Amino acid sequence: LMQLSVPLNFIGFIYREIRQGLTDIEQMFDLLDVPQEVVDRPGAEPLKVEEGTVEFRDVHFAYDPDRQILKGISFKVAAGKTVAIVGPSGAGKSTISRLLFRFYDIQQGAILVDGQDIRDVAQESLRAAIGMVPQDTVLFNDTIAYNIRYGRTDATEAEVQKAAELAQIGSFIEALPAGYKSMVGERGLKLSGGEKQRVAIARTILKAPPILMLDEATSALDTHTEQEIQAALDLVSRGRTTIVIAHRLSTVISADEIIVLKDGRIAERGTHVDLLRERGLYAAMWDRQREATEAEERLRIAREAD
Ligand code: ADP
Ligand code: MG
Repeated sequence: LMQLSVPLNFIGFIYREIRQGLTDIEQMFDLLDVPQEVVDRPGAEPLKVEEGTVEFRDVHFAYDPDRQILKGISFKVAAGKTVAIVGPSGAGKSTISRLLFRFYDIQQGAILVDGQDIRDVAQESLRAAIGMVPQDTVLFNDTIAYNIRYGRTDATEAEVQKAAELAQIGSFIEALPAGYKSMVGERGLKLSGGEKQRVAIARTILKAPPILMLDEATSALDTHTEQEIQAALDLVSRGRTTIVIAHRLSTVISADEIIVLKDGRIAERGTHVDLLRERGLYAAMWDRQREATEAEERLRIAREAD
């Protein structure tokens, strides 16, 4: 038994190392959520980004042929403007972000960036033009500096630190015993959802893309963290074409257009004021949110009075 246990341990060690390598690759694909079937058209040219306009033109999409997810979505985001997408869970909001990145090809319609169909351009150039802050950021089993620098691998240490500060996570990192060299991910420090999202924001600040795609995550964030993240997101989206899957009232109020998605269709669209006036789905959503916020506030005041 003794004789066997050494090689077995050794094999276990090798296995873990290999698996770890695979995990990183898996994580990278998770991070990019890349299904392998999307390939460049032969001779695909790089995307030419001039202004950074984005258009979804009658987009139909299904992951599985028997279940339509998007059923004719059309909207335009002018250069530097912000469109917010809201709607119930499962409506297809995150799917829109995956399609802009061309993780999947659509079945009907077109997605255009500065008038170029994204199916006609080199994927690498498309993805270079878009900064994505996903709902759940996956971190590599590496240092926090590596995880931020992933946004632009030739960034200097000073640039990495500057990006972290702008993303409101600089002082958190500096307070860690190993600072920017701290290991994160499954084998290192486990970061909270809000901290991971700020790492993703720092990455995006480094990348400085003309187009931004933000999938806001609010679950499990306290109000204070949420405000810090909001400040970081406002900063990174300034002057950039932005599509934001929004949960926060503040994001939505200031959006140039709000799209209310329901069951794969646009149920309502307009500005915050337009939609409140309509007294439809959107207005009902914000009534509910306001009630929840007010209840929270009453609870806080009652606690403070104790
Ligand atoms: P939202 O972000 O609005 O909550 P999603 O765009 O993530 O919704 O998902 C829309 C629908 O598509 C959901 O019903 C979801 O279960 C389904 N879906 C999401 N990703 C996949 C996938 N990779 N394969 C099959 N169905 C999926
Ligand atoms: Mg989602």
